[in-house]
Amino acid sequence: MKNGRFNEKYFLTDDQIMLRESVQEFAQQELAPRARELDAWDHTDYPFDLMYRAGELGYLGLSIPEEYGGTGMDSICEMIMIEEIARVSSGMASAIDAHSGLALAAFVEGGSEEQKKNWLAPAARGEKIAAFALTEPGSGSDSGAMTTSAKLEGDEWVINGTKHWITNFNGCDFFVVAARTDPESKGAKGVSVFYVDAKNPGVSIGEPEHKTGNRGPGSGTVFFTNCRIPKDCLIGEEGEGFKILMKGLDEGRLVIAALSIGIAQDSYDRAVRYANEREQFGKPIGKQQIIGAYLADMASQIDLARTMLYHVCRMKDAGLEYTAEAAAIKVFASEMCVRVTEKAVQIHGGNGYSEEYIVERNWRDSKLQTIGEGTSEILRCMVLARRCLNEEY
Ligand SMILES: Cc1cc2nc3c(=O)[nH]c(=O)nc-3n(C[C@H](O)[C@H](O)[C@H](O)COP(=O)(O)OP(=O)(O)OC[C@H]3O[C@@H](n4cnc5c(N)ncnc54)[C@H](O)[C@@H]3O)c2cc1C
Repeated sequence: MKNGRFNEKYFLTDDQIMLRESVQEFAQQELAPRARELDAWDHTDYPFDLMYRAGELGYLGLSIPEEYGGTGMDSICEMIMIEEIARVSSGMASAIDAHSGLALAAFVEGGSEEQKKNWLAPAARGEKIAAFALTEPGSGSDSGAMTTSAKLEGDEWVINGTKHWITNFNGCDFFVVAARTDPESKGAKGVSVFYVDAKNPGVSIGEPEHKTGNRGPGSGTVFFTNCRIPKDCLIGEEGEGFKILMKGLDEGRLVIAALSIGIAQDSYDRAVRYANEREQFGKPIGKQQIIGAYLADMASQIDLARTMLYHVCRMKDAGLEYTAEAAAIKVFASEMCVRVTEKAVQIHGGNGYSEEYIVERNWRDSKLQTIGEGTSEILRCMVLARRCLNEEY
């Protein structure tokens, strides 16, 4: 093990290692100088030039097939890219997750050939930026309780409803929106997914939320008011939207795990440096047995999370069912991230409680990971416990 990471040569390909190095170069040279600016508390306009640049480099469509504008790499490559970006700015990694991990995944799962060519391909190349609109003020974990409706009138769908906490909402080019197409149905049934151009006159947005962390991309409310879209903006079959969304969320959960590992790795690296530099009682604090033990636990947990994440990626790429495994690694990695970032603050003492030190930002950024894309409670109760009890999930 070197610097908190097992020797990757044993389990990564040369291409995967090269990708890590090239993303690190982008992250250090182009993203790091702007990471503080992105985290400013009153920051409201995400500099989308960073997203377009990530698109130019192929990062927004890494695991999307080449014929649809992607680079056709495997899922581990996508996780490596997210981890390296999150080590520098978890806000930017969240923006990429909303775009690729969630919105574009809907096209991969349910899009027609024409939709993939017309909408997925430009977005995979990073020419268009997407947002994913599922959550509503009254329906978060219980997404089946959504009330946003879509009604077919002639050749158009008419969407009405409010979506809440939508990342990339202020500046994206289009939304992937979930809405109820069967007013009689309840829960997951009768929900469909749509492509909605952000410039549609029926779309308006609220103010960005003042978030604790993961700043950079705005997250906020989107209103759909008699929003008319062509009939062929329906993605997949009418009423089958939930299946598409849940498949997309499986992938999104892997992305959150990678993001968590990136934040934790950066916190660990900083904690090691600080433990070596900071002297108290005449020697570096890292020489105190308890600080060394903290570092040992942090490194082990990060490596465990990364190893399991790559294992689940291999299951996904082999075409195996991986819903429960995605839930398990999301819960483990996100909670690991909260623990590791908290310990990194502790190792920094009072300095860890100052905005001057990046471990403070990482600590704030960590908490979202146990909430978004399936809270720890929901994944434990509705996926993992059910699997243990041989129930349907
Ligand atoms: C910064 C940020 C960005 C986001 N970006 C997006 C986005 O781009 N697109 C999008 O659609 N959404 C987005 N979200 C929304 C996010 O997915 C939801 O916040 C999340 O699903 C939880 O829903 P909620 O906030 O309504 O919490 P609630 O569902 O109200 O849950 C509150 C608490 O109750 C617990 N709970 C609820 N039901 C149960 C149960 N049955 N059993 C046990 N415990 C339960 C939860 O685990 C949680 O602890 C974002 C949220 C944030 C904070």
